[in-house]
Amino acid sequence: MTPKKITVMKNDKATTKKPVQKAASKTEKPAVVKTAPTPLVSENEFLMQSLRGMRDILPDEQPYWERVRRSLSAAAQDFGFQRIDVPTVEFLHLFVRSIKEGTDIIDKEIYAFQTRGGDRVALRPEFTAGVVRAYIQHGMSALPKPIRLFSTGPVFRYDRPQEGRYRELWQGNFDVFGESDPILDAQVIQMAYRVIHELGLRNIEFQVNSIGTPESRKRYEKALVRFLESQKHKLCQSCRERLVTNPMRILDCKEDKCVQLTSQAPQALDFLDDESRAHFKSLLEYLDELDLPYTINPRLVRGLDYYTRTVFEIWSSDREGKKYALGGGGRYDNLIQELGGEPTPAIGFGLGLDRIVLEMKRTQVRPHEFPKPRVFLAQLGDLAKKKSLRLFSDLEKHGVLVTESFGRGSLKAQMRVAARHGVEVTIILGQKEAIDGTAIVKDMVSGTQETVTQEKLVDAVKKILKTNASLSHPAPKFE
Ligand code: AMP
Repeated sequence: MTPKKITVMKNDKATTKKPVQKAASKTEKPAVVKTAPTPLVSENEFLMQSLRGMRDILPDEQPYWERVRRSLSAAAQDFGFQRIDVPTVEFLHLFVRSIKEGTDIIDKEIYAFQTRGGDRVALRPEFTAGVVRAYIQHGMSALPKPIRLFSTGPVFRYDRPQEGRYRELWQGNFDVFGESDPILDAQVIQMAYRVIHELGLRNIEFQVNSIGTPESRKRYEKALVRFLESQKHKLCQSCRERLVTNPMRILDCKEDKCVQLTSQAPQALDFLDDESRAHFKSLLEYLDELDLPYTINPRLVRGLDYYTRTVFEIWSSDREGKKYALGGGGRYDNLIQELGGEPTPAIGFGLGLDRIVLEMKRTQVRPHEFPKPRVFLAQLGDLAKKKSLRLFSDLEKHGVLVTESFGRGSLKAQMRVAARHGVEVTIILGQKEAIDGTAIVKDMVSGTQETVTQEKLVDAVKKILKTNASLSHPAPKFE
């Protein structure tokens, strides 16, 4: 067997290592040499930290994420989207054929690698390509149209990490297949508005543009290149390269000199074919009808190659001169056919959840509040400890949120934990109660306590909680 190449990431750079082979001496018998398996990574490569640009989302942050997740699911449900989960890894070919070479995502950012079986695969840099692949693979075109699909999860881009720019980022993604009418474009923008609004984000800007059909886009691209070629020396180095590989991306460049130059460049809207112009006009009329404010941004072209006609982006409010794209999308009427499906118009958008959470924090939006346990179960002695697991589960099955500190033996230590939780009821199961089949129920608000049989425990606890709720007692403060 020839030794396989193993690619390992070290200090952020991919290095290719070959397992070391010892030179065999001429006198050695060839077949029976046993070598120890080569370790995949050496000890000193191991760092106890996440990869650059990849983060843990710790429990502290989860209330924000939970609010986002809930808003996404609620909007998906209300607008008739069905959830679809597609794999994190797909054939590299899928992304190259849909997003295309010449884009930053494919040329610079894709995480591509070869599997042990020799397949060239990639971590998804966005959802649409995978969702379209699934749509074609499972013959979903037979379903009544439009077909609305929602997906969410991490996507991967080998970008330069900084605040709001990660290598593993989370997106919520909505795609609608089978309808070319601009009313659908308006509806997905309406939906994006709904999510953003529900999340309590304000001063958010919606930018729209139309880049027309591939033909009108080509005409536009030609005019743009002609204009930029004549003043090439005013472009940054990357944009000079883009002039050859993907000229439309120059409109996206943030370098001052490129921004200045492109502000005088021809605009896509002036090159639209009649149908695309009428399509865009109708979209704007629908948005006006919905009273959804928008800005027409003639420079907006989006970084993915598959878009046709409508493109849009959602931008955060200005943050000391810094703005973030919170999401974006558009029409991709030719993608399904290009990937081998029946001609099917489609539109979709993705929201960047990491940036939405950043914006929520920055503008002090309230995060989701997870319900807190209102009951503490304390136990004392071996028998009580044994019985307590069942009691815990009885309460939990009846919808009572209960917490405990089973690992602690002393009642005092357990009561300290109960105090930290600020519970309204403490159940105490001592040796005597465990033998009798009873439990002590202590109302922490009124300070009263009673002994009840374990069969009646759930009812007794619920009664106290209900009384407390109706009295709107604040949970007692403990030291
Ligand atoms: P795109 O399709 O590239 O416009 O991405 C959709 C959204 O994902 C963007 O509007 C951002 O909110 C978010 N996003 C894109 N790239 C990153 C990144 N590297 N880190 C965090 N969020 C990102």
